Amino acid sequence: MENDAIRTESIVKEFGEVRALNDVTIGIKRGELFFLLGGSGCGKTTLLRCIAGLEKPTSGSVFFDGEDVTDLPTHKREAAMVFQSYALWPHMTVGQNIAFGLEERKVPKREIEARVHEVLEMVKLIGYEDRAIDQMSGGQQQRVSLARALVVRPKCLLLDEPLSNLDAQLRLEMRSEIRRIVKENDLTGVYVTHDQAEALSMADRMAVMDNGHVEQIGTPQEIYRNPATSYVAAFIGETNLLKGTVVGIKGMLVTVDTDAGEFEGRVTAKNWSPKTGERAIVSVRPEAIRVEKTGGDSQGHILETTYLGDVIQYRVETVHGVVVNASQLNPRVLLRPGERGFTLDVRSEDVVVLRD
Ligand code: ATP
Repeated sequence: MENDAIRTESIVKEFGEVRALNDVTIGIKRGELFFLLGGSGCGKTTLLRCIAGLEKPTSGSVFFDGEDVTDLPTHKREAAMVFQSYALWPHMTVGQNIAFGLEERKVPKREIEARVHEVLEMVKLIGYEDRAIDQMSGGQQQRVSLARALVVRPKCLLLDEPLSNLDAQLRLEMRSEIRRIVKENDLTGVYVTHDQAEALSMADRMAVMDNGHVEQIGTPQEIYRNPATSYVAAFIGETNLLKGTVVGIKGMLVTVDTDAGEFEGRVTAKNWSPKTGERAIVSVRPEAIRVEKTGGDSQGHILETTYLGDVIQYRVETVHGVVVNASQLNPRVLLRPGERGFTLDVRSEDVVVLRD
Protein backbone atom coordinates (compact mmCIF):
# COMPACT_ATOMS: atom_id res chain seq x y z
CA MET A 1 0.00 0.00 0.00
CA GLU A 2 1.02 3.59 -0.56
CA ASN A 3 1.44 4.58 3.04
CA ASP A 4 3.65 1.63 3.90
CA ALA A 5 7.10 2.79 5.03
CA ILE A 6 8.53 -0.52 3.83
CA ARG A 7 6.93 -3.00 1.49
CA THR A 8 8.24 -6.23 0.07
CA GLU A 9 6.29 -7.43 -2.95
CA SER A 10 6.37 -11.11 -3.97
CA ILE A 11 10.02 -11.54 -3.03
CA VAL A 12 11.74 -14.73 -4.09
CA LYS A 13 15.37 -15.30 -3.12
CA GLU A 14 17.32 -18.30 -4.26
CA PHE A 15 20.84 -19.32 -3.29
CA GLY A 16 21.64 -21.95 -5.91
CA GLU A 17 19.26 -24.81 -5.21
CA VAL A 18 17.97 -23.31 -1.95
CA ARG A 19 14.85 -21.16 -2.13
CA ALA A 20 15.29 -19.04 1.00
CA LEU A 21 12.26 -16.81 0.31
CA ASN A 22 9.17 -17.89 -1.56
CA ASP A 23 6.79 -15.09 -2.60
CA VAL A 24 7.02 -12.87 0.46
CA THR A 25 4.71 -9.82 0.55
CA ILE A 26 4.77 -7.70 3.69
CA GLY A 27 3.69 -4.10 4.33
CA ILE A 28 5.20 -2.28 7.30
CA LYS A 29 3.60 0.98 8.44
CA ARG A 30 5.47 4.14 9.30
CA GLY A 31 6.50 4.22 12.97
CA GLU A 32 5.74 0.56 13.44
CA LEU A 33 7.98 -1.90 15.26
CA PHE A 34 7.53 -4.96 13.08
CA PHE A 35 8.95 -8.41 13.86
CA LEU A 36 10.04 -11.21 11.56
CA LEU A 37 9.74 -14.33 13.69
CA GLY A 38 10.44 -17.94 12.84
CA GLY A 39 12.64 -20.94 13.44
CA SER A 40 16.20 -21.36 12.22
CA GLY A 41 16.55 -21.25 8.44
CA CYS A 42 13.01 -19.93 7.77
CA GLY A 43 14.42 -16.97 5.79
CA LYS A 44 13.98 -14.06 8.20
CA THR A 45 17.59 -12.80 7.98
CA THR A 46 17.51 -13.10 4.20
CA LEU A 47 14.33 -10.99 4.10
CA LEU A 48 15.90 -8.35 6.37
CA ARG A 49 19.01 -8.29 4.18
CA CYS A 50 16.82 -7.81 1.08
CA ILE A 51 15.15 -4.85 2.84
CA ALA A 52 18.57 -3.45 3.78
CA GLY A 53 19.92 -3.87 0.27
CA LEU A 54 22.61 -6.32 1.38
CA GLU A 55 20.97 -9.01 -0.72
CA LYS A 56 19.25 -8.65 -4.08
CA PRO A 57 16.00 -10.61 -4.53
CA THR A 58 15.95 -13.16 -7.34
CA SER A 59 12.55 -11.68 -8.21
CA GLY A 60 10.11 -9.29 -6.56
CA SER A 61 10.57 -5.75 -5.29
CA VAL A 62 11.29 -3.70 -2.18
CA PHE A 63 9.60 -0.32 -1.69
CA PHE A 64 10.51 2.43 0.78
CA ASP A 65 7.76 5.05 1.13
CA GLY A 66 6.24 3.82 -2.14
CA GLU A 67 9.48 4.17 -4.07
CA ASP A 68 11.00 1.09 -5.66
CA VAL A 69 14.44 0.70 -4.05
CA THR A 70 15.15 -2.84 -5.27
CA ASP A 71 18.18 -1.67 -7.24
CA LEU A 72 19.27 1.06 -4.81
CA PRO A 73 22.46 0.40 -2.84
CA THR A 74 22.29 0.06 0.95
CA HIS A 75 23.63 3.51 1.82
CA LYS A 76 20.94 5.24 -0.24
CA ARG A 77 18.01 3.54 1.54
CA GLU A 78 17.77 5.63 4.74
CA ALA A 79 17.91 2.43 6.74
CA ALA A 80 20.54 1.46 9.32
CA MET A 81 21.25 -2.03 10.50
CA VAL A 82 22.12 -3.38 13.95
CA PHE A 83 23.68 -6.83 14.13
CA GLN A 84 23.80 -9.53 16.78
CA SER A 85 27.60 -9.42 16.70
CA TYR A 86 27.70 -5.60 17.29
CA ALA A 87 30.30 -5.31 14.48
CA LEU A 88 32.23 -2.59 16.34
CA TRP A 89 35.91 -1.76 15.85
CA PRO A 90 37.65 -2.88 19.04
CA HIS A 91 40.68 -0.59 18.61
CA MET A 92 38.52 2.54 18.44
CA THR A 93 36.76 4.40 21.25
CA VAL A 94 33.00 4.54 21.65
CA GLY A 95 32.93 8.02 20.12
CA GLN A 96 35.13 7.05 17.19
CA ASN A 97 32.98 4.02 16.43
CA ILE A 98 29.84 6.16 16.38
CA ALA A 99 31.44 8.99 14.37
CA PHE A 100 32.93 6.71 11.72
CA GLY A 101 29.92 6.65 9.39
CA LEU A 102 29.59 10.43 9.51
CA GLU A 103 33.30 10.98 8.81
CA GLU A 104 32.97 8.76 5.76
CA ARG A 105 30.10 10.94 4.60
CA LYS A 106 32.30 14.03 5.12
CA VAL A 107 29.98 15.59 7.68
CA PRO A 108 31.68 18.69 9.28
CA LYS A 109 33.55 17.97 12.54
CA ARG A 110 31.32 20.25 14.67
CA GLU A 111 28.20 18.56 13.47
CA ILE A 112 29.72 15.13 14.09
CA GLU A 113 30.41 16.08 17.70
CA ALA A 114 26.88 17.32 18.22
CA ARG A 115 25.32 14.27 16.63
CA VAL A 116 27.50 11.82 18.55
CA HIS A 117 26.43 13.58 21.75
CA GLU A 118 22.80 13.40 20.68
CA VAL A 119 22.84 9.64 20.07
CA LEU A 120 24.88 8.93 23.21
CA GLU A 121 22.05 10.61 25.08
CA MET A 122 19.44 8.51 23.26
CA VAL A 123 21.12 5.25 24.26
CA LYS A 124 22.03 6.54 27.75
CA LEU A 125 25.82 6.40 27.33
CA ILE A 126 26.77 10.03 28.04
CA GLY A 127 30.26 10.07 29.59
CA TYR A 128 31.46 6.92 27.81
CA GLU A 129 32.61 8.60 24.63
CA ASP A 130 36.36 8.10 25.22
CA ARG A 131 36.15 4.54 26.53
CA ALA A 132 37.74 1.77 24.51
CA ILE A 133 35.22 -0.71 23.13
CA ASP A 134 36.83 -3.65 24.92
CA GLN A 135 36.22 -1.91 28.25
CA MET A 136 32.47 -1.92 27.66
CA SER A 137 30.10 -4.69 28.74
CA GLY A 138 28.06 -6.66 26.19
CA GLY A 139 24.96 -4.59 26.89
CA GLN A 140 26.91 -1.33 26.56
CA GLN A 141 28.46 -2.51 23.31
CA GLN A 142 25.00 -3.19 21.91
CA ARG A 143 24.00 0.35 22.93
CA VAL A 144 27.04 1.65 21.03
CA SER A 145 26.04 -0.27 17.93
CA LEU A 146 22.51 1.16 18.26
CA ALA A 147 24.01 4.66 18.57
CA ARG A 148 26.15 4.06 15.51
CA ALA A 149 23.06 3.08 13.53
CA LEU A 150 21.06 6.08 14.81
CA VAL A 151 23.73 8.69 14.15
CA VAL A 152 23.07 8.66 10.40
CA ARG A 153 19.45 9.61 11.23
CA PRO A 154 17.85 6.72 9.38
CA LYS A 155 14.10 6.48 8.87
CA CYS A 156 14.25 2.73 9.38
CA LEU A 157 16.14 0.68 11.90
CA LEU A 158 16.80 -2.93 10.88
CA LEU A 159 17.72 -5.21 13.76
CA ASP A 160 19.04 -8.75 13.32
CA GLU A 161 18.76 -10.69 16.60
CA PRO A 162 20.30 -7.71 18.43
CA LEU A 163 19.92 -9.18 21.92
CA SER A 164 20.92 -12.79 21.49
CA ASN A 165 24.45 -12.32 22.84
CA LEU A 166 23.22 -10.76 26.09
CA ASP A 167 22.33 -12.49 29.34
CA ALA A 168 18.68 -12.90 30.30
CA GLN A 169 18.42 -9.87 32.62
CA LEU A 170 20.03 -7.47 30.15
CA ARG A 171 17.89 -8.82 27.35
CA LEU A 172 14.79 -7.85 29.29
CA GLU A 173 16.12 -4.34 29.94
CA MET A 174 17.18 -3.82 26.33
CA ARG A 175 13.76 -4.93 25.03
CA SER A 176 12.11 -1.85 26.45
CA GLU A 177 15.11 0.33 25.58
CA ILE A 178 14.94 -0.58 21.89
CA ARG A 179 11.19 -0.06 21.82
CA ARG A 180 11.61 3.33 23.49
CA ILE A 181 14.29 4.41 21.00
CA VAL A 182 12.18 3.37 17.99
CA LYS A 183 9.06 5.12 19.30
CA GLU A 184 10.72 8.30 20.61
CA ASN A 185 12.51 8.85 17.32
CA ASP A 186 9.55 7.99 15.11
CA LEU A 187 11.50 5.24 13.40
CA THR A 188 10.14 2.28 11.50
CA GLY A 189 11.74 -0.80 13.02
CA VAL A 190 12.12 -4.25 11.49
CA TYR A 191 13.37 -6.77 14.02
CA VAL A 192 14.43 -10.34 13.32
CA THR A 193 14.28 -12.90 16.11
CA HIS A 194 13.55 -16.55 16.80
CA ASP A 195 12.57 -15.62 20.38
CA GLN A 196 8.80 -15.53 20.62
CA ALA A 197 8.79 -13.83 24.03
CA GLU A 198 10.81 -10.97 22.53
CA ALA A 199 8.38 -10.67 19.63
CA LEU A 200 5.21 -10.94 21.75
CA SER A 201 6.42 -8.37 24.27
CA MET A 202 7.87 -5.80 21.85
CA ALA A 203 6.10 -5.99 18.50
CA ASP A 204 3.32 -3.77 17.20
CA ARG A 205 2.79 -6.46 14.57
CA MET A 206 4.72 -9.47 13.45
CA ALA A 207 5.08 -11.91 10.57
CA VAL A 208 5.49 -15.56 11.54
CA MET A 209 7.63 -17.24 8.90
CA ASP A 210 8.20 -20.88 8.04
CA ASN A 211 10.26 -22.39 5.28
CA GLY A 212 10.66 -19.20 3.20
CA HIS A 213 7.08 -17.97 3.38
CA VAL A 214 4.88 -15.94 5.69
CA GLU A 215 2.39 -18.05 7.63
CA GLN A 216 0.56 -15.17 9.32
CA ILE A 217 0.81 -11.44 9.98
CA GLY A 218 -0.87 -9.76 12.95
CA THR A 219 -0.53 -8.12 16.33
CA PRO A 220 0.87 -10.32 19.12
CA GLN A 221 -2.65 -10.70 20.56
CA GLU A 222 -4.15 -11.68 17.20
CA ILE A 223 -1.44 -14.23 16.55
CA TYR A 224 -1.64 -15.74 20.04
CA ARG A 225 -5.45 -15.80 20.28
CA ASN A 226 -6.24 -16.52 16.62
CA PRO A 227 -3.41 -18.54 15.08
CA ALA A 228 -4.37 -19.28 11.48
CA THR A 229 -2.37 -22.51 11.11
CA SER A 230 -1.26 -25.32 13.39
CA TYR A 231 2.37 -24.25 12.76
CA VAL A 232 1.67 -20.79 14.19
CA ALA A 233 -0.38 -22.20 17.08
CA ALA A 234 2.48 -24.50 18.08
CA PHE A 235 5.31 -22.03 17.41
CA ILE A 236 3.84 -19.13 19.38
CA GLY A 237 3.28 -20.12 22.98
CA GLU A 238 2.37 -23.60 24.07
CA THR A 239 -0.66 -25.48 22.87
CA ASN A 240 -2.37 -28.85 22.77
CA LEU A 241 -3.03 -29.95 19.19
CA LEU A 242 -5.68 -32.65 18.76
CA LYS A 243 -6.52 -34.17 15.39
CA GLY A 244 -10.07 -35.06 14.49
CA THR A 245 -13.04 -34.82 12.14
CA VAL A 246 -15.57 -32.03 11.76
CA VAL A 247 -18.95 -33.33 12.99
CA GLY A 248 -21.00 -30.17 13.31
CA ILE A 249 -21.15 -26.54 12.19
CA LYS A 250 -23.31 -24.01 14.04
CA GLY A 251 -22.80 -20.48 12.76
CA MET A 252 -19.26 -19.48 13.66
CA LEU A 253 -18.70 -22.53 15.85
CA VAL A 254 -17.42 -25.85 14.57
CA THR A 255 -17.48 -29.14 16.48
CA VAL A 256 -14.60 -31.54 16.00
CA ASP A 257 -14.55 -35.12 17.22
CA THR A 258 -11.07 -35.99 18.50
CA ASP A 259 -9.52 -38.86 20.44
CA ALA A 260 -10.06 -36.75 23.57
CA GLY A 261 -13.77 -36.23 22.85
CA GLU A 262 -15.74 -33.51 21.08
CA PHE A 263 -14.57 -29.89 21.07
CA GLU A 264 -16.50 -26.88 19.88
CA GLY A 265 -14.34 -23.98 18.69
CA ARG A 266 -13.74 -21.01 16.39
CA VAL A 267 -12.27 -21.07 12.88
CA THR A 268 -9.50 -18.46 12.61
CA ALA A 269 -8.11 -19.09 9.10
CA LYS A 270 -9.63 -16.57 6.69
CA ASN A 271 -9.37 -18.82 3.64
CA TRP A 272 -10.97 -21.97 5.05
CA SER A 273 -14.61 -22.96 5.59
CA PRO A 274 -14.65 -26.46 7.04
CA LYS A 275 -17.23 -29.00 5.93
CA THR A 276 -18.73 -31.88 7.90
CA GLY A 277 -16.55 -34.97 7.58
CA GLU A 278 -13.38 -32.94 6.86
CA ARG A 279 -10.20 -33.53 8.88
CA ALA A 280 -9.29 -30.74 11.30
CA ILE A 281 -6.94 -29.92 14.17
CA VAL A 282 -8.09 -28.44 17.45
CA SER A 283 -5.73 -26.11 19.31
CA VAL A 284 -6.27 -25.52 23.02
CA ARG A 285 -3.80 -23.49 25.09
CA PRO A 286 -2.85 -25.10 28.44
CA GLU A 287 -4.15 -22.07 30.35
CA ALA A 288 -7.57 -22.48 28.68
CA ILE A 289 -8.12 -25.90 30.28
CA ARG A 290 -9.70 -25.62 33.72
CA VAL A 291 -8.87 -28.45 36.09
CA GLU A 292 -11.54 -28.57 38.79
CA LYS A 293 -11.33 -30.95 41.74
CA THR A 294 -14.67 -32.64 42.38
CA GLY A 295 -13.72 -35.65 44.42
CA GLY A 296 -16.17 -37.75 42.41
CA ASP A 297 -15.86 -39.16 38.91
CA SER A 298 -12.70 -38.18 37.16
CA GLN A 299 -12.03 -37.20 33.57
CA GLY A 300 -8.46 -38.41 33.88
CA HIS A 301 -5.47 -38.68 36.16
CA ILE A 302 -2.48 -36.45 36.79
CA LEU A 303 0.79 -37.66 35.28
CA GLU A 304 3.03 -34.81 36.36
CA THR A 305 2.74 -31.68 38.47
CA THR A 306 5.13 -28.74 38.09
CA TYR A 307 4.75 -26.04 40.74
CA LEU A 308 6.04 -22.64 39.60
CA GLY A 309 4.59 -20.44 42.35
CA ASP A 310 2.21 -18.33 40.32
CA VAL A 311 1.32 -21.17 37.97
CA ILE A 312 0.90 -24.91 38.30
CA GLN A 313 1.46 -27.02 35.21
CA TYR A 314 -0.19 -30.40 34.92
CA ARG A 315 0.35 -33.19 32.47
CA VAL A 316 -2.95 -35.00 32.44
CA GLU A 317 -3.93 -38.30 30.89
CA THR A 318 -7.62 -38.12 30.04
CA VAL A 319 -9.96 -41.09 30.36
CA HIS A 320 -9.61 -41.43 26.58
CA GLY A 321 -5.87 -42.02 27.05
CA VAL A 322 -4.86 -38.67 25.51
CA VAL A 323 -2.14 -36.63 27.24
CA VAL A 324 -2.73 -32.87 27.52
CA ASN A 325 -0.97 -29.98 29.25
CA ALA A 326 -3.05 -27.73 31.49
CA SER A 327 -1.72 -24.77 33.46
CA GLN A 328 -3.60 -23.18 36.32
CA LEU A 329 -3.07 -19.67 37.61
CA ASN A 330 -3.40 -19.37 41.36
CA PRO A 331 -5.22 -22.65 42.02
CA ARG A 332 -6.64 -23.29 45.48
CA VAL A 333 -5.70 -26.97 45.52
CA LEU A 334 -2.65 -28.72 44.23
CA LEU A 335 -3.21 -32.06 42.53
CA ARG A 336 -0.45 -34.63 42.86
CA PRO A 337 0.70 -37.18 40.29
CA GLY A 338 -1.69 -40.16 40.24
CA GLU A 339 -4.60 -38.12 41.59
CA ARG A 340 -8.08 -38.49 40.11
CA GLY A 341 -11.41 -36.92 40.95
CA PHE A 342 -11.36 -33.82 38.74
CA THR A 343 -13.11 -32.43 35.70
CA LEU A 344 -11.50 -30.81 32.68
CA ASP A 345 -13.30 -27.88 31.16
CA VAL A 346 -12.66 -25.56 28.24
CA ARG A 347 -14.76 -22.74 26.76
CA SER A 348 -15.42 -22.79 23.02
CA GLU A 349 -14.10 -19.24 22.62
CA ASP A 350 -10.71 -20.60 23.76
CA VAL A 351 -10.71 -23.46 21.24
CA VAL A 352 -9.33 -22.84 17.76
CA VAL A 353 -10.24 -25.17 14.88
CA LEU A 354 -7.57 -25.38 12.19
CA ARG A 355 -7.18 -27.05 8.84
CA ASP A 356 -5.28 -30.36 9.04
P1 ATP B 1 18.67 -18.26 11.51
O1 ATP B 1 17.76 -17.86 12.62
O2 ATP B 1 19.26 -19.61 11.71
O3 ATP B 1 19.67 -17.20 11.14
P2 ATP B 1 17.00 -17.42 9.29
O4 ATP B 1 15.54 -17.61 9.43
O5 ATP B 1 17.53 -16.06 9.48
O6 ATP B 1 17.73 -18.47 10.21
P3 ATP B 1 18.26 -17.34 6.72
O7 ATP B 1 19.60 -17.03 7.27
O8 ATP B 1 17.52 -16.25 6.06
O9 ATP B 1 17.35 -17.98 7.84
O10 ATP B 1 18.42 -18.57 5.71
C1 ATP B 1 17.34 -19.10 4.95
C2 ATP B 1 17.87 -20.24 4.09
O11 ATP B 1 18.76 -19.73 3.09
C3 ATP B 1 18.66 -21.28 4.84
O12 ATP B 1 18.38 -22.52 4.28
C4 ATP B 1 20.09 -20.88 4.60
O13 ATP B 1 20.94 -21.98 4.67
C5 ATP B 1 20.03 -20.30 3.20
N1 ATP B 1 21.04 -19.24 2.98
C6 ATP B 1 21.07 -18.04 3.60
N2 ATP B 1 22.11 -17.30 3.15
C7 ATP B 1 22.75 -18.05 2.23
C8 ATP B 1 23.90 -17.86 1.38
N3 ATP B 1 24.58 -16.71 1.42
N4 ATP B 1 24.25 -18.86 0.57
C9 ATP B 1 23.55 -20.01 0.53
N5 ATP B 1 22.47 -20.26 1.27
C10 ATP B 1 22.06 -19.32 2.11
